[in-house]
Parts: sequence; structure tokens; C-alpha cells
Amino acid sequence: MTQTFYGQINPPARLLMGPGPVNAHPRVLRAMAADMLGQFDPEMTGYMNQTMDLYRQVFMTANRWTFLVDGTARAGIEAALVSLVEPGMKLLVVRAGRFGLLLSEIAARIGAEIVTLDIPWGEVATPEQIEDAIITHRPHVLACIHGDTSTTMAQPLDGVGALCRKYDVLSYVDATATLGGMAVATDRWGVDVVSGGLQKCMGGPPGSAPITVSDRAAAHIFSRRHVEAGIRGSDTTDGARARIPSNYLDLAMIMDYWSEKRLNHHTEATSMLYAAREAARIMVEEGLENRFARHASASRAMCAGLRAMGLELFGSDAHRMTNVTGVYIPASVDGERVRGRMREDFEIEIGTAFGPLQGKVWRIGAMGYNAEKSKVLLTLGALEAVLRQEGHAFTAGAGVDAALAAYSA
Ligand SMILES: *Cc1c(COP(=O)(O)O)cnc(C)c1O
Repeated sequence: MTQTFYGQINPPARLLMGPGPVNAHPRVLRAMAADMLGQFDPEMTGYMNQTMDLYRQVFMTANRWTFLVDGTARAGIEAALVSLVEPGMKLLVVRAGRFGLLLSEIAARIGAEIVTLDIPWGEVATPEQIEDAIITHRPHVLACIHGDTSTTMAQPLDGVGALCRKYDVLSYVDATATLGGMAVATDRWGVDVVSGGLQKCMGGPPGSAPITVSDRAAAHIFSRRHVEAGIRGSDTTDGARARIPSNYLDLAMIMDYWSEKRLNHHTEATSMLYAAREAARIMVEEGLENRFARHASASRAMCAGLRAMGLELFGSDAHRMTNVTGVYIPASVDGERVRGRMREDFEIEIGTAFGPLQGKVWRIGAMGYNAEKSKVLLTLGALEAVLRQEGHAFTAGAGVDAALAAYSA
């Protein structure tokens, strides 16, 4: 048998201007290169506590239970749902895109009774629609997406927590795509559980899911905790509640691990903890308002540039996410060939779309470390060159000029 030695990992230096993952901040990558520590080493538990404190700032919350779920953002989503929702419990899912569908898919596996508020792709739910759905269905839990990257729309959430509390509903929000780029105002929204990821506006690699849990949600989750007597994870619960049907994603066990009890669960993914901690440190150092403004400026410039090239944006202007923009592919060009040329000739990745938008829309992001003037201008300049070659007619240079003008306005 011949042995094959592949080359060392040496990826091309691509500029990732899609809906995520995006390029990680160099400081995050350097933090990940640090060596391991034992899980109960005081330095390590100290880093864990600092990470909790940093993510309270990132999630704009005073929630004691603010920590990391190890895994990509989907692990945070699944941990939240599997820990909050019991089989047979009624869950209301606001579905306005692909990630809303994911919430109901996960909940179906739990055996929840699922009811939905379905919104056309490109729009968001109004507070009245949400209240009507709550009154009609009287769910135990409401789940929704903040920024659904599949449609590039951001669901307004002010007042939603108060509505849920009025009708005694627990609430969950997936803020994966907005955390670090738009205000994820956990306490102002008054929602119970919010989860995110690193590879979008936090400017880190995929593989860690920051999460925050209110005291009332934590009380519910702890009421489903396994009895402590005997071996943890044995088949018994405290009797009152259905057992959380996952061990790895059991938030009661994960919170016990992150608490002063330090009850052993999994091994905290050390390098990912370093990455998550550094990503949050960079955000807090920059200042949340500055960071949101940086994303908003990049978005304004990107939108102006695309429009100046004669392209039409997808979805409602009022609810556009400020970190990823959906744009219709002109009828005269082949969308995948344009993406191929962007990658091959310019080393720039832009995103395709899913479901009903596949082949119709590109999604162009400016997230985290990439929400920068030079990267927005480079992307627009490259897209202009490619579209010209593909025969799309527009005033040469108009896109970059409009973006520059937006930046100096
Ligand atoms: C990207 C994204 C996810 C996907 O998370 P993974 O890190 O791929 O598991 C989940 N929700 C939303 C809203 C996203 O934009």
C-alpha cells in the first residue's frame, strides 16, 4: 500500500464576503494557538468566568447564566430547545426563512406540539401578529430568529419579551447571525434564552455557541435536572418533569459545569474558549455602539454600491440586516458563474441562496472583521469587473463611487 502525505493546511487567502463563515480576526486566531490547560486548573476556570462576564456584555444582559455551548451555532439552538421544550409542550415558531424552519425541525424531533406563525420570505412579523398567534395558540414557549441570513431580514424584538411574559410564555431567540453586528439586546427585549455563534459578526471561527439564559428559564431547565444521587446522568429525574433527552446538550448539566459546582460534564473545548473569549474582548474593547455603527456603515455603502450598479435588493429596506445584503441576480447573467469568477479571479467569496431564493439572489456579507470600508470597496470593484465581463450593462465605476460617497456622507 502506498502512503499518501497530503500537504500542510495552507488555504488560499480568500476574502469571505458571504453570509458566514467570514475571515476570523487575527487576534482570535493567535489566541487559539495557545496551549491547553487542565479543565479544573484555576487559570482555566478563571478564563471560563471571564468569558461569562464578557458575553454578558456582548448579549447586553445581567443574566448570571451566560456561557458557551461547545459546537457550532446549531448546538446552541438545539441545546436551548431540547432543554426548554418537553415532549408534548406547545411551541410557537415564528418562521420567516430557512432558520425558522430549522427551529420547527428540531422541535419536531423533541416531540413538541408545534404551531407556527409563517411570514413570507423577505418580511418580518409584526408585534400584533405575534400577540395574535400567542392568544390563538397559548404556547408554552415561543421561538424565533433575530437575523435570518436566508432572507437577510432582522426581526424587531422590542416588546416581544414583555408580550411573552404577559401570557406566561418562555421565549427563545437565535441571534447567530446578528451577535456582534447588531444590538442583541437580551434584557431590553426581555427574552429568556438567546444563542449565537462565532463565525458571523463575532469574527471568530465556527465551533462555539455563546448562550444566555434568564433566571426564570434556568429555573424551568433545572426543574428537569437529573437527581444528583448516584451517578450523574443515571436514568432518573427529580420526578416532576420530563428528562432532557440529550446528554451533551443538557443545559442543566452544562450550567452545573460552568457554575462554582464545576460538576464534570464534557471537556470544555479549550481552543474554542480562547477564541470566544478573544472575540468578545475585541468587541468590548471596540465598544458595542462603535461596532454596530461600523456594520451599519458597511451595509449602507454596500447597498448604495449595488444599487448604483443597476442591481435590485431583496426584501424590505426597513428590516434589512446590517451585515448581509440580498441582491437579485440580473436576468442576463449566470449567478454561479459570477460567483466562480469572483472566487477565481479575485479571491472573493459571495454567497448563494437557499430554497425559494436559490438561483435568484446572491447574499453579500460584511461581517465582523470584514465589515470594513476597504473590503466593501474591493468586493464592489470586483463585482463590477465580473458583471461587465458577463455583459451586464451599467455605468462603469458607479458602484465603487456610490459606496465611497456613502462612506463620506
Ligand atoms: C449561520 C446561522 C446558523 C448556523 O449555525 P452553524 O454555526 O452553522 O451551526 C444558525 N442560525 C442562523 C440565524 C444563522 O445565520
